[in-house]
Amino acid sequence: PYNGPSVDEILAKRKDYLSPSLLHSYKKPLNVVDGKMQYLFDDEGRRYVDAFGGIATVCCGHCHPDVVDAIVKQTKRLQHSTVLYLNSAIADFAEALASKLPGDLKVVFLTNSGTEANELAIMMSRLYTGCQDIISLRNGYHGNAAATMGATGQSIWKYNVVQSGVHHALNPDPYRGVFGSDGEKYAKDVQDLIDFGTSGNVAAFISETIQGVGGIVELAPGYLPAVYGSIRNAGGICIADEVQSGFARTGSHFWGFESQGVVPDIVTMAKSIGNGIPLGAVVTTAKIAEVLTRRSYFNTFGGNPVCTAAGLAVLRVIEKENLQENALLVGSYLKDRLMAMKNKYEIIGDVRGRGLMLGVELVTDHQEKTPAKAETLHVMDQMKELGVLIGKGGFYGNVFRITPPLCFTKEDADFTVDSMDYVMSRM
Ligand code: PMP
Repeated sequence: PYNGPSVDEILAKRKDYLSPSLLHSYKKPLNVVDGKMQYLFDDEGRRYVDAFGGIATVCCGHCHPDVVDAIVKQTKRLQHSTVLYLNSAIADFAEALASKLPGDLKVVFLTNSGTEANELAIMMSRLYTGCQDIISLRNGYHGNAAATMGATGQSIWKYNVVQSGVHHALNPDPYRGVFGSDGEKYAKDVQDLIDFGTSGNVAAFISETIQGVGGIVELAPGYLPAVYGSIRNAGGICIADEVQSGFARTGSHFWGFESQGVVPDIVTMAKSIGNGIPLGAVVTTAKIAEVLTRRSYFNTFGGNPVCTAAGLAVLRVIEKENLQENALLVGSYLKDRLMAMKNKYEIIGDVRGRGLMLGVELVTDHQEKTPAKAETLHVMDQMKELGVLIGKGGFYGNVFRITPPLCFTKEDADFTVDSMDYVMSRM
């Protein structure tokens, strides 16, 4: 049993000693003290189905024994900086990770977060091309440091940092976008940005392949092939941000970009890569990687032995437990059930996503697509009371994000949808 501080005591300490910007979900905040696979447990021992843990990095499941074992073993043996000496953990992980990527994407840079990975990718593209202009998407999220905050396309995450050189293209959003599902029409906007807003050359295009923070938006079909063509014609580099969509989550593929049939020049990743341990990566070609030999470059803890031991264990678990197949199977089942809910409740405007990266958008009317923001919060809160944790996101805060650990079962999916159904039936 838990005998630590109460919710009120923790809240008081946060108020006195932690960042005033720190958020927590739910009106009545949850004090989670234990995690086991797809379940979380609060201070009273109450169990919750964690249908949002994937976002907070857990792909194999909370405290997966193989990953915990790898971390403990390596921690007992040695934890040190990545720089100075050799250690096999980082090399073994880089080899295993590179084997998951197509083409010439073989050189791995390790970081501590997704922000760091994207900052590095953007900097490398600028060094490689000698250009400054970056094109990213409206509604995208890439991080909270200078360049990544610039590339992010949602005002709520933006402080008044210097954002020169970033152009935000029309979002190829099949539900809300101006061209519906016509990927090539949206891609033309990127060509226009190059033609009207740059010297004709750009450093890079960066985008997620399914927007996570932006509310589980799958890019319109055909978008990335056309955009990658325009960017490469302008001498630029194509960066895929796989921080949320990577590591088997989409079920159909290991990486989100594969569903658009493209091969990026740089792939960035974080979250799932370490199953909860701080780890991020940039994977690129030897030719692009070369730019970081022009000066010295290092990252003290990026790719340290403990985090990379965890990373290697994650890749093995995904393989051993067929988590990609499970994401496809359970994800398709869950999506079908959510689609059926859409026919039942007027408030559901859209159900979308792939594998175990699903979104449900709530609107008060289908014509205007007016965001049902208060209702979204209400359903989330009530589902928590029933023992199910889901997330929310989207520019208007009216999209449920369902991104559970990849070990999620059909029974968990049923419990999640049944809870949502029950709450909506009483609204
Ligand atoms: N890219 C994407 C797609 C993300 O969702 C996030 C985090 N939400 C980041 C980058 C930044 O990662 P981190 O918070 O680890 O810096």
